Amino acid sequence: MQDLIVQRPEGLYCPPGDFYIDPWRPVDRAVITHAHADHARMGHGHYLAATPSEGVLRSRLGTGIQLQNLDYGEQITHNGVTLSLHPAGHVLGSAQVRLAHDGQIWVASGDYKVAPDATCVPFEPVRCDVFITESTFGLPIYRWRPDAEIFAEINAWWAGNAAAGKASVVMCYSFGKAQRILSGLDAGIAPIVVHGAVQSLNQVYRAAGVQLPETKMVSDISDAADFKRALVLCPPGAAGGPWIKRFGDFSDAFASGWMQLRGARRRGGYDKGFVLSDHADWPGLMGAIGATGASRVIVTHGSVPVLVRYLTEQGLQAEAFHTEYGDDPVEEQVLVAEPPAGTPAAGAADGATDAPAAA
Ligand SMILES: [Zn+2]
Ligand SMILES: [Zn+2]
Repeated sequence: MQDLIVQRPEGLYCPPGDFYIDPWRPVDRAVITHAHADHARMGHGHYLAATPSEGVLRSRLGTGIQLQNLDYGEQITHNGVTLSLHPAGHVLGSAQVRLAHDGQIWVASGDYKVAPDATCVPFEPVRCDVFITESTFGLPIYRWRPDAEIFAEINAWWAGNAAAGKASVVMCYSFGKAQRILSGLDAGIAPIVVHGAVQSLNQVYRAAGVQLPETKMVSDISDAADFKRALVLCPPGAAGGPWIKRFGDFSDAFASGWMQLRGARRRGGYDKGFVLSDHADWPGLMGAIGATGASRVIVTHGSVPVLVRYLTEQGLQAEAFHTEYGDDPVEEQVLVAEPPAGTPAAGAADGATDAPAAA
């Protein structure tokens, strides 16, 4: 039986349907799992994506893109292939792509997480014969604590800094991670100030119906004392520039799954590391893969050899696709800057540096 998805130089390709999924080179027809830059590239002739991703896609790729939206669960048939999109729980509008053709069902996950997230629709397990999974955190050492605990940590750190007259600056990716953090903040502590890159995404989230606390830009702050008690969200690129200077002697933190690696936190030079990821941890990957019922699993970006070996040992037919997906760019920077070799998580270092992100 013909494979429904194969690798091509342009990206993952569906031969009977004649379209690509998250291609990294320009193609005529692209199904986009989500709007992170490594999955949603410019230059395709036609885009198909889940309805809630429209605002982010247009803000990043231009309002003029040829974009067709599909609600979660809605089916269309193209060249005899029935396609539907199902929530991936990763960021606003993220989707798994389900393809049915000639009695076979394939699902390509894109990026996903199974932990709850107030800013996007929860991950939905989809039964299939073949499952294409990401493996960003595909090592047994990655186990996330409940979000509520992480948010409590962030709020306590912020309240302590505010009481001491210090701003609390959290560096994170502006699409997805920033809004997830916002959803967990206690807005009663002090004002929340965001970088312009974050604010424009906040507006897209709010327009899509996601509730976020009030966020101010620096130009909205009239009382200078607010700079010394604010919680500040910005991309790491803002760290070295003049924008950050107005916050004076602040405490800083980085929010990422990579913060679970002790070496990364130490060498990153941040006062705090909050372990908060938009990707599934090891138990999350195992649960998601198991829930598909797939007998064949194809692993993409992340700890590919480790996961392929493990799944093979579990009796599944497992293999790898080489892709050009990285991780969220800021998470890449942390990983590249902090090789975790020699840390207590040395086993993790090998797997983690297999990620295309580290290349
Ligand atoms: Zn992503
Ligand atoms: Zn990815």
